[in-house]
Amino acid sequence: MNSTQNAPTLPKLTPNMALKHRNTFGFEVCAESAYEITAAEQIPKVMQQIAEQKLAWRVLGGGSNVILPKVLPGVTLLMNIPGQEITRSDESNTVVTVGAGVNWHDFVSWSIEQQLPGLENLALIPGTVGAAPIQNIGAYGAEVADFIESIEAFDTAAHAFVTLPKAACQFAYRDSYFKQNPHRFIVTKVAFKIPKAWEPRLQYADLARQFAGADTKPTARQIFTAVCTIRSQKLPDPKVIGNAGSFFQNPIVTDKQYQGLLQTHPQLVSYPDQTGMRKLAAGWLIDQCGFKGQTVGSVGVYKNQALVLVNHGDGTAEDILDLAKSIQDKVREVYGVQLEIEPNIF
Ligand code: FAD
Ligand code: NAP
Repeated sequence: MNSTQNAPTLPKLTPNMALKHRNTFGFEVCAESAYEITAAEQIPKVMQQIAEQKLAWRVLGGGSNVILPKVLPGVTLLMNIPGQEITRSDESNTVVTVGAGVNWHDFVSWSIEQQLPGLENLALIPGTVGAAPIQNIGAYGAEVADFIESIEAFDTAAHAFVTLPKAACQFAYRDSYFKQNPHRFIVTKVAFKIPKAWEPRLQYADLARQFAGADTKPTARQIFTAVCTIRSQKLPDPKVIGNAGSFFQNPIVTDKQYQGLLQTHPQLVSYPDQTGMRKLAAGWLIDQCGFKGQTVGSVGVYKNQALVLVNHGDGTAEDILDLAKSIQDKVREVYGVQLEIEPNIF
């Protein structure tokens, strides 16, 4: 066998690829060119070509946390790397290694079927496994960092594959080293460490309500089902109404700021955060400013959850960002708090 037979081939390059169905806002988007990445080994050659031709590039998972312009110049890498397997199991933990392109909810669902409880609070979050560490996805008091052992990625600075232990990922509330350093790492695989010891996490009121009065502790499968039910009722299905989930991060303020706000707004909804600061419920602030259910042209604020901005049809990134700015301005005027946009703006 000669060496060219072993060399990884470039994946298929598609020019002018429509991405309306690969961004959950449902914006009319066209990628100048797109590679479908189905194996990590394809990445070095693709990145070499991009570097040689000095092309703009970006990585796209399921497109559920992005705001895309009408045209994406240069090259878009569509992460479709498949595969999931249990790679280790001992008395305390099960380690599962999963390809970056695997659908997140499918993986959570599979883990419950495999009797690996832990991820149930994170059910029904759209997107891919590879994107989950980027903003350290979280819901109902759980976050993906709780379960990550290490991450395999292509380091574009070193032009080499690396394995990053959890400690190197600098996970924080909806944040990570990857989010702080976009374009540095392309995640190809995630190794999850799922502890065998398990306790239900029911501190969120919507979830606790589902099991109130029960004599026995709910199972992980019951919590998984409850989370799916609550989310389906409360959040818009992107297949029906375009959205990217929460549009703003919950602001984290100092205790002094919090006490000051309480003086003028005694009903303020907030929670202690992981670092001893105070987390304000951004959805509540937006609701109080009167935006919930409002429509501006083709975009608006979802009627059941003011934190979710929606595309009713032919809205664009500019429309959403204009609406976001008017919300940010009003919330700052009333509460003196700056709302930061959560999805990634390309
Ligand atoms: P994309 O939107 O495609 O990409 C997001 C970012 O990650 C981009 O910067 C992209 O470049 C980068 N990226 C993607 N894949 C890779 C990779 N393999 N390597 C390197 N970078 C990569 N989020 C929560 O945290 N909690 C929730 O409960 C939640 N609920 C949601 C509900 C709805 C209805 C929607 C639409 C979104 C919700 N989100 C939530 C946001 C979103 O689902 C997550 O952020 C998800 O992880 C994004 O995955 P994705 O594959 O769609 O990523
Ligand atoms: P919710 O339960 O109505 O709560 C509103 C806000 O209050 C949330 O942002 C949540 O913070 C916070 N909160 C509620 N109970 C809390 C508690 N016991 N301890 C600490 N914080 C508490 O929220 P929701 O809109 O229905 O969403 C439910 C869960 O799904 C939340 O965890 C939310 O983050 C997640 N979600 C995320 C997205 C996204 O795109 N990022 C979209 C939809 C849902 P946290 O956000 O910090 O949890």
